[in-house]
Amino acid sequence: MIPLLDLTRTDLRDLMQQWGEPTYRGNQIYDWLHKNLVTDPAQMTNLSKKLRARLAAETSVNPLELITQVDSEDRLTRKALFRLPDGATIEVVLMLYNYRRTVCISTQVGCGMGCPFCATGQGGLVRNLTAGEIIAQVHWFERWLREEDGRENSLKVERPSRLSNIVVMGMGEPLANYDALLQALRAIADPDTFSLSARAITVSTVGLIPMIDKLVEEKLPVRLAVSLHAATNRLRNRLVPINKRYPLEALMAACRRYQQKTNRRISFEYALMRGVNDAPQHAEQVADLLADLRCHVNLIPLNPTAGSRYQPSNEQTAQRFQEILQEAGITTTMRLRRGVEINAGCGQLRQASQQSDPK
Ligand code: SF4
Repeated sequence: MIPLLDLTRTDLRDLMQQWGEPTYRGNQIYDWLHKNLVTDPAQMTNLSKKLRARLAAETSVNPLELITQVDSEDRLTRKALFRLPDGATIEVVLMLYNYRRTVCISTQVGCGMGCPFCATGQGGLVRNLTAGEIIAQVHWFERWLREEDGRENSLKVERPSRLSNIVVMGMGEPLANYDALLQALRAIADPDTFSLSARAITVSTVGLIPMIDKLVEEKLPVRLAVSLHAATNRLRNRLVPINKRYPLEALMAACRRYQQKTNRRISFEYALMRGVNDAPQHAEQVADLLADLRCHVNLIPLNPTAGSRYQPSNEQTAQRFQEILQEAGITTTMRLRRGVEINAGCGQLRQASQQSDPK
């Protein structure tokens, strides 16, 4: 079966040519997939019956099979666990936040970056997702939001509506799966089809410097978020092991290059871990490190993972940390640990599902 969402518009036109069809059929199919979000070739009504039948027999559209989904008690977060055709599982989260409808998507099955506080990092990298598997996560929630039928709508959201933002912060290191990621984001930001502004897309990285430099050169003005978690090499080497290859001085230089070329503000993510990186001196180090960058710091009390020695900071400590940054003139947001009760921490629904899986 040919996975249609993995194909670019050009690939689809080439496929039609191979099948002896006019190449414009490729454009029509691309629009059905990426504009109308159709998953069944039978619904592609401007194609001949013969072509629809061949598509049904030889191609597949949606690679996601829903295993389970859970809503948070405040009805602002929905987390879904999907099975891919090879049996691997991934998580996707929809968050309703200040009139935004943001989906947090995954780019890899597992992750090879080995951050010791992270549930996903513990299992290592299984494989990269394909472009189609990344796109399908966005389409899944967009389709749900677009439906007018409000039944089964336990979330606080008006339907029909549309996704307003995408954050590439789910399982995996997005820039370690660069080509598939870029193909997927180009399809999502295509003004003729899905048409979400690239400015509404945030790509997160632990700091793969060559890929940050490459991203700057793309004509795709997505936003950059850097997972910082520590402001000294000594501590960051421990929390974010890739720091040994790309230390902070080099990472900050790459951030400055990014800012000079794009003139865009950078977000820094900082997971507050009790007794590890949450002391006032750590906040002062962050303030010093970021002093010459136009940036925003998202503070996130760590999502607790069962059995982990890394635990979230308490509220008072987190507040003091935030005050120090704000006093230094750095804008910050204390991100609520949305959906902790629904296992919405990175990789946690997947982990919980595997633990309860008798196989
Ligand atoms: S925190 Fe992010 S980069 Fe680190 S192991 Fe987890 S998923 Fe990978």
